[in-house]
Amino acid sequence: MQSSIIPKRILVVDDSRVQREFAVELCLRLGATDIYQAQEGHQAIALLQEIPLIEVVILDLEMPGMDGVQVLHELVRLGMDPAVIVASARESVLLTVVESMGKSLGVKLLGVLQKPLTLDQLASSLGRFAAVQHRDAFQVMAEMGPELTEHEVMVALREQQFCAYFQPKVSLQDGRLSGVEALVRWKHPTHGLLQPGHFLDLVERTDNMPAITMLMLDLSLRQCQQWHAEGLMIGVSINLSARSLADSKLADAIIERVAASGIAPHYLMLEITESALMTDLAITQGTLARLRLKGFGLSVDDYGTGFSCMLQLSRVPCSELKVDRAFVNGASENVHLRILLESALDIARRLNLKVVAEGVETHKDWALLRELGCDEVQGYFVAKPMPGEALLLWWSANQQRIQKLLKPEGFFRRMFGSGFS
Ligand code: C2E
Ligand code: CA
Ligand code: CA
Repeated sequence: MQSSIIPKRILVVDDSRVQREFAVELCLRLGATDIYQAQEGHQAIALLQEIPLIEVVILDLEMPGMDGVQVLHELVRLGMDPAVIVASARESVLLTVVESMGKSLGVKLLGVLQKPLTLDQLASSLGRFAAVQHRDAFQVMAEMGPELTEHEVMVALREQQFCAYFQPKVSLQDGRLSGVEALVRWKHPTHGLLQPGHFLDLVERTDNMPAITMLMLDLSLRQCQQWHAEGLMIGVSINLSARSLADSKLADAIIERVAASGIAPHYLMLEITESALMTDLAITQGTLARLRLKGFGLSVDDYGTGFSCMLQLSRVPCSELKVDRAFVNGASENVHLRILLESALDIARRLNLKVVAEGVETHKDWALLRELGCDEVQGYFVAKPMPGEALLLWWSANQQRIQKLLKPEGFFRRMFGSGFS
């Protein structure tokens, strides 16, 4: 059981008296002191208004009167933000939908649990309370980010404040370092190292994306020359924005720079998001066809998140498919995600495309992808993005760890006991 701090004031909302009393009993055993009960949504909302100190709501979905889904909307509409645990006996796909709805509404969800509740499940959901409160405050601060201006972007370009970080990709077949993805960072003189989420929109709005694309290409080529000179014959993936793909001169510029660098084009993979493919299809297709003819690799990024994604695969001469982390993360625990992941892998195999899974965060994610026959993985479980000069050292320190991960499952049990997951 968790040793974390358990919230003390809890509201249990359920139309079944038996279920309610069972949940109350579990909460008491976990150390809650003030437990309130409601039989349906209206009553729950009234109680929350009357007692704003209630910290957590354990919410059933199916109830006469106002149901659980309506309660979540009502909480948001009224600006109330208790943490919520959804508890329902309904099928898991419905719970997944409610979970994703809750998250997009901005509800502080501690967990979505299938009934009958167990003490352990409830303990681990309630145990997330402190972290969620903390993350909430942190997230608000992080999301606000610093105020940045177009002038600062111009200065940053001139003074070379933008730099490239590289995140490794490794092969699930043989544990080889198969390449890296270049990700832009801004070394801001006062705000420190900024992530793309804080400034790429501004860069795009102010028409500075072509400059960033070319800069990232140059930094990646330079780094690649360095790695190749050191005997690390890896390729680099570069992200291309929607806007840059609609520029017919882009292909010429890229081809020219790469030729001048002496790096063969097959070491470069261009990552294109599916939404990018929807703008100016004719120009985009022309640009991509030319790059492919010259030997560049093309990758469909964030696969599975755009619309009509399967159709896009027939429109792009791509060589790789990058499955979005939304399908990867948690697929080992969610049967629906797993089915979507399997079907993405199946499509890729039939179209003869290499598949890279992004957002691999845990050993479970890694093991599932291996079992499903995915080609390569990228994610925090392997490594976070790092400066180019750190890569060689990282690889020499981690190569063995990666190799060990490819040993059959039984190896880990023998090494670390049956608790290893
Ligand atoms: P992306 O192309 O999907 O890149 C992957 C993002 O996921 C990166 O975020 C990376 O740090 C993050 N990531 C990697 N492994 C994990 C993991 O295991 N878990 C989680 N939660 N995240 C992981 P980053 O660097 O913040 O970049 C965000 C997005 O900004 C990129 O998403 C890409 O769309 C865009 N971007 C980054 N660099 C460039 C660039 O040079 N040019 C363009 N046009 N877009 C860029
Ligand atoms: Ca990418
Ligand atoms: Ca991606």
